[in-house]
Parts: sequence; C-alpha cells; structure tokens
Amino acid sequence: MSDKTIPAARCPICRKPTVSDYRPFCSKRCADIDLGHWFRGDYAIPGDPVDPADLPPGADGSGEDGENK
Ligand SMILES: [Zn+2]
Repeated sequence: MSDKTIPAARCPICRKPTVSDYRPFCSKRCADIDLGHWFRGDYAIPGDPVDPADLPPGADGSGEDGENK
C-alpha cells in the first residue's frame, strides 16, 4: 500500500483532482473555502451534535452572567 498516489482523489469543494501540496483539496483556494465552512459552523462535529440554537440563552457560555462560576 502506497500513499504516494490516491486514485480518484477529488477535491471536496470543486471535485477537481487533488494536488499533493493541498490535499485533500486541489488548491489553497479550496482549502481556504473549506476552512471558512468550519469557522462558520457549516459542518457538524461528529460526536457533538449539540446545536447552539437549541440551547437556552447563556448556556453556551456567551452570556454575561455565566462566565464567572
Ligand atoms: Zn478544489
């Protein structure tokens, strides 16, 4: 088994063949796009299905009164 070549590896953003420097993406641009998705919370985190929108106000630690336990 060699990891030098991954047949049919495709960029998850635009589906072009990946480039080794930017795997699993085809370019830095697509890597940045994917990173942007993470920062925006577009992707769910496996094992942590809590949606902040489902929590009561302040339960996510962003409330003014909740940070000084
Ligand atoms: Zn791409």
